[in-house]
Amino acid sequence: MGLKDFFKDRQLKKAEKLQNQVALNGNGHDIKTPPPICDDVLCALWTKCQSCKELLYTSELKKNLSVCKSCGYHHRLTAQERIEQLLDYGSFIEVDENVLPADPLNFVDLKPYKDRLKDAEKTSGVKEAIITGYGNINNQPVAIGVMEFQYIGGSMGSVVGEKITRLIEGAIEKRLPVILISSSGGARMHEGILSLMQMAKTASALKLLHEAKLLYISLLTEPTFGGVTASFAMLGDIIVAEPQARIGFAGRRVIEETIRQKLPKDFQTAEYLLENGQIDLITPRQDLKQMMAELVRLHKQNEKKEEYISNGKGAFHEVPLLARI
Ligand SMILES: [Zn+2]
Repeated sequence: MGLKDFFKDRQLKKAEKLQNQVALNGNGHDIKTPPPICDDVLCALWTKCQSCKELLYTSELKKNLSVCKSCGYHHRLTAQERIEQLLDYGSFIEVDENVLPADPLNFVDLKPYKDRLKDAEKTSGVKEAIITGYGNINNQPVAIGVMEFQYIGGSMGSVVGEKITRLIEGAIEKRLPVILISSSGGARMHEGILSLMQMAKTASALKLLHEAKLLYISLLTEPTFGGVTASFAMLGDIIVAEPQARIGFAGRRVIEETIRQKLPKDFQTAEYLLENGQIDLITPRQDLKQMMAELVRLHKQNEKKEEYISNGKGAFHEVPLLARI
């Protein structure tokens, strides 16, 4: 037997063995194409932790709010998942869902911006990089905006700025607290200066919210960068971050190349920012809803207290906790 025949024979035997296996398993894979190691079903069953690389049951990971049980890494959530986790079931009402992006500059980079928008909608399932609306958090109404990182890196274009501004204006009208959840690479360069203008626009709207004495909680999640960090994300009355979230303006590599210095290992992490006084607290995902509900409740209580005093009814005596029970 020649070498060529030897290999052909071995290949045939291998195929025969595989065919028997396939018949046993009954999964109907074609003999010419061996079954893939990871087909869609298997991939959906397991998820590899992006930090410790441990294989995790997807269903268990979801049950644990997409936090790795091994290392505590907080995986990115879609805007929809975030809303489901934070708000009371079925209470969310979306607004301004039909404010859609345009292409005022006819921008083309590797592909036209118009095509990029269509692709982004297909892959992310949302029409823009933010979902805004109203809902309840432990039975207390709030105005909420959640960024969707899957849509062109959660970048802020005209629509994101407009939807946030409308949400804030609506909250002022309805006298509701505002919660904005950021996950973004920064301003969307495809819209040039129009994107950058959203920084000033959202910041101005937040000033009006502040003047109306309403609460604004900003939640920073992995990752929050660029024009988003430089505007509304860092203007919260209370700025909260998720553990290990990367938060910054320019990227680490850009800064290192500019200042020609090595930066600390934990630079631009939530923990580093907390240590340096740039954020107020870090809260694990499991406690986020409770913490936010408590903040909203405390603020509301204080508002009532001020109203009571300003109505000339004298000092506000808070009912002791025991008496209330
Ligand atoms: Zn892990």
